[in-house]
Amino acid sequence: MKTPKAIHELIAQYTPQEVHYYSDPGTGLRALIVIHSTTLGPATGGTRFYPYATWEAALEDALKLAQAMSYKCALAELPFGGGKGVILGDPKREKTPQLLQAYARIVHQFNGRFTTGEEMGIDPEDLKVMMRETQFIAGARGVTPDISPVTAQGVFYGLKACFQTVFGNSSLHGRTIAVQGAGKVGYHLIKLLTAEGARIFVSDIDRRALERVQSEFGVRIVEPPDAIYALECDAFAPCAIGGIINDTTLPLLNCKIVAGSANNQLKEPRHGDRLHEFGILYAPDYVINAGGLIAAVQDLIGGSLERAFQETEKIYGRLLKIFEIARRERIAPHRVADRIAEERLRKRPYE
Ligand code: NAD
Repeated sequence: MKTPKAIHELIAQYTPQEVHYYSDPGTGLRALIVIHSTTLGPATGGTRFYPYATWEAALEDALKLAQAMSYKCALAELPFGGGKGVILGDPKREKTPQLLQAYARIVHQFNGRFTTGEEMGIDPEDLKVMMRETQFIAGARGVTPDISPVTAQGVFYGLKACFQTVFGNSSLHGRTIAVQGAGKVGYHLIKLLTAEGARIFVSDIDRRALERVQSEFGVRIVEPPDAIYALECDAFAPCAIGGIINDTTLPLLNCKIVAGSANNQLKEPRHGDRLHEFGILYAPDYVINAGGLIAAVQDLIGGSLERAFQETEKIYGRLLKIFEIARRERIAPHRVADRIAEERLRKRPYE
């Protein structure tokens, strides 16, 4: 249990603009909404419904995710800031339409300063329920029923930027790419990569997900799943879980590039510095995986899926620029991305 001072320090560490806590005894709702920044525009970020072990764990998750959203929006050049909602509880047992509507009424009180959407534990059907109470919901207007293909397209462009930087050629034909996770993003990424003629190795802990990509795209399966870290390949594309670049996996890596969709790939920022020292090019996760956010924003502003794909293509040029600055200054790309985001977040929109 953290002391009040430790909670204060925790909040200060993530520099949020606002932290809100709500409870609604009638529906059992307990929720946190964190607005990290509205410097570049209204805050946006999904709402996670999760059975946190403690209140503090929920707070830390919301703070971290809201800050990451600010950085992601800033790098994707979107006129939005970062925010995040978390609902404390087990969605399987505690999610009711009444609870979702109570939460949506809270979102509505922000009058557009905070907009939210899908995340772990909140699916498109839940968004429809929430839309009965507020229009400040992204992802329920039908731009796309699934943002994952847009995320995958962004990772595909991002991989091309990495190959251009490392090998002087953006073609993926004949390249060996190890994809960790054949879920929603991994599946669509593997489809794009095999269409371009890349050789794909895949790991997953879900047998059915593996069988699907094996039968549809003829990929090679890596077993046991953790053997993927040491696999000799041109690029390793983490598309499953966070924290997979860490003290244990780093010495195993046998690739030139790490670039995938997973959030929070670096266990700690120092692990990105180690990748740089090892001569492995790392595509900062929140830059390369912004396609889904770009699609959600199109939904929010009444745009189109076509526009989302067009905007996502810019990830290629954005990463090339980050890699060039990193090369010139001899620092790791994630440091460059953080610096650009922090500079943008310090500026007032009219400057
Ligand atoms: P998903 O749940 O559909 O797929 C994840 C896959 O990874 C599953 O098939 C799961 O079995 C597998 N997996 C879990 N642990 C594994 C392990 N140790 N080794 C190998 N495979 C493992 O999720 P998703 O939507 O495809 O997202 C994948 C990652 O990308 C997540 O980190 C997510 O936060 C991030 N992301 C997704 C989107 C999106 O549009 N869906 C956008 C931005 C970031």
